[in-house]
Amino acid sequence: QKKLEYVKKNIRSYPDFPKPGIIFRDIFSVLSNPPAFHALKDALFEHVSEITPKPDVIVVLESRGFLFGPIVALHNIPCVPVRKKGKLPGDICRQEYTLEYGTDVFEIQSDSIKAGQNVLVIDDLLATGGSLKAACLLVKQLKANVIQCLVVMELLNLKGRNHVAVPTHSLIQF
Ligand code: 5GP
Repeated sequence: QKKLEYVKKNIRSYPDFPKPGIIFRDIFSVLSNPPAFHALKDALFEHVSEITPKPDVIVVLESRGFLFGPIVALHNIPCVPVRKKGKLPGDICRQEYTLEYGTDVFEIQSDSIKAGQNVLVIDDLLATGGSLKAACLLVKQLKANVIQCLVVMELLNLKGRNHVAVPTHSLIQF
C-alpha cells in the first residue's frame, strides 16, 4: 500500500540504540512530519474500520501505544490504558512479564472492560511480543476477548507474533 510505504520511508532508524546491535525505529519521526502522520492515521482508520466484529474497547499500552490508540478511539470506541505498575488509581489487575533482563508489571483498572467484551489491543511496535502477551493476559483476567493485536511496526526477525498467540496485524514490517 502506497500510504504505508510513505510512512515507512519516514520512520527514522538509529543503529546501535539503546545498545550496540539494536536498530531503534523512531516512531516520533512520523509525528514530526504531518503528511506522514496523516497517512498513518488514514491507514489505522482504514484497518480498524474493517475489523469484524467491531471492537467494544481499545486497550492501549504505555507509553507509545498511547500515541495511536486514541486516534482510533475517535471511531467511537472506548479507549482504556494498560500502564506500568503503580500509575493507575482504583481497583486494578496485575500481570508480570519478562523483559530482556528481569521482569516488569503491567496493570489495568478492573472495571475498564466488562466480561465478554471484544477488545482490540494497540501498541506502536511488536518486538519479542512480551508486552502484547502481558496485555492479552490482563484482558483475559477481566474475562474479555482480545480479537486482535494491532501494531504500527513489527520486527519480523524476532517472531514476536508467535509469542502473542492472538491474531496480530502490523501496518509496517522491518
Ligand atoms: P516487546 O515486548 O514486543 O519485546 O517490545 C515491544 C515494546 O518495546 C513496545 O512497547 C515498544 O514501544 C518498545 N520498543 C522496542 N523496540 C523498539 C523500537 O525499535 N522502536 C520503538 N519505537 N519502540 C520499541
